[in-house]
Amino acid sequence: MSKSLQAIRGMNDILPEQTPLWRYFEGTVARLLDNYGYRQIRMPIVEFTELFKRSIGEVTDIVEKEMYTFDDRNGDSLTLRPEGTAACVRAVLEHGITGGGQVQKLWYVGPMFRHERPQKGRYRQFHQIGLEVFNLEGPDIDAELIVMTWRLWGELGLRDAVKLELNSLGTSESRGRYREALVEFLSAHVDKLDEDSQRRMKTNPLRVLDTKNPETQAILVDAPKMADYLDEESRAHFEGLKARLDAVGIPYVINPKLVRGLDYYSKTVFEWVTDKLGAQGTVCAGGRYDGLVEQMGGKPTPGVGFAMGIERLVLMLEALDKVPEELSRQVDVYLCAFGEAAELAALSLSERVRDQLPNLRLQVNAGAGSFKSQFKKADKSGALYALILGDDELAQQVVGFKPLRGQGEQQSIAWDALAAHLATCVVQG
Ligand code: ATP
Ligand code: MG
Repeated sequence: MSKSLQAIRGMNDILPEQTPLWRYFEGTVARLLDNYGYRQIRMPIVEFTELFKRSIGEVTDIVEKEMYTFDDRNGDSLTLRPEGTAACVRAVLEHGITGGGQVQKLWYVGPMFRHERPQKGRYRQFHQIGLEVFNLEGPDIDAELIVMTWRLWGELGLRDAVKLELNSLGTSESRGRYREALVEFLSAHVDKLDEDSQRRMKTNPLRVLDTKNPETQAILVDAPKMADYLDEESRAHFEGLKARLDAVGIPYVINPKLVRGLDYYSKTVFEWVTDKLGAQGTVCAGGRYDGLVEQMGGKPTPGVGFAMGIERLVLMLEALDKVPEELSRQVDVYLCAFGEAAELAALSLSERVRDQLPNLRLQVNAGAGSFKSQFKKADKSGALYALILGDDELAQQVVGFKPLRGQGEQQSIAWDALAAHLATCVVQG
């Protein structure tokens, strides 16, 4: 196929074999969020470029080199969203739903776009489920976010495979003091830092802590620690969070180097990481951003949120063999009909059955075919039962009912009794 007719590198089709697992994952998360009182918001995929520059920060990796930015036909600079928080903050400001101090607990799901080097667990179009909470400043809500994800890992069977890392970045004042100390330390070792870190030291020094370069990491062992610069308020907030996690029994490790790639974080930052996915180990990440709304032109509004990467969690479910058995079967019953008169009867019978059993997954054979070929299709569909309607059944107003997996003889069931019979043998979702 010519290159221009292929999908763009790093942007994937999610094929029908994979979508049941995606829907299971997204459905599980959506139900959980409903139960904790979060409401869904849907934002556009494209925003003005300025929005991301202002919120994420000019000298972050995302804004410096990962955004899909283009001019539209009016000459406006637009960008495919690389994450959801910026657009969510824009939306609450635009609609005035946080300005009076109203608490908003919002979540969203959808594609995000970053021009990164594609590899397992890292794509150029990827999908996140994220949430943002506005106007709650205490550690109780930070804890709720983490407790909720802990419950999610439990429901998915992933608890043993993830680890929680925590840090506090303090208020912007204490972070400022820490930044000065860090820059002083880095300046004293500047000739031993990798090139990237030398550059970051000037633009965004906290990000140097995030380096993957082993030599720079070795130097950082002696670097000043944020924990020693935390102001009293942030320290109390962090203690409040830890006490709540302890109360629920959620294990965590404090990672003083956890700074996150986006500029807007303050106080709590956290990541759920796994060693089951190679280098792409972070499956959920977030934190508090008390200054962001004001920075974007709103009233001072505390905020906290996280986002998880759906591709990485789907990969994890597969790698750890946690794909629920029932996802492999998408059809309960397959109806075969032979001859035109039987086909007409089969269609109206199937519609009556659907009226009575709205959740039944009933597939009616299309494209006619011999007894042998329809049976082959019934079997291949994964259905538990085949229904058979030929001239004889038509004359007697019955269908043949044949178990396709395991035990049981074929029997005849009257049309009027079919729905009731199916209700007893098919567990309906
Ligand atoms: P990483 O350190 O892996 O690049 P990040 O800090 O850039 O992640 P965030 O912006 O915090 O990631 O996004 C939250 C989550 O979204 C990540 O923890 C990850 O699960 C997922 N994610 C981020 N970028 C990608 C990507 N390019 N492909 C797939 N998933 C991604
Ligand atoms: Mg990244």
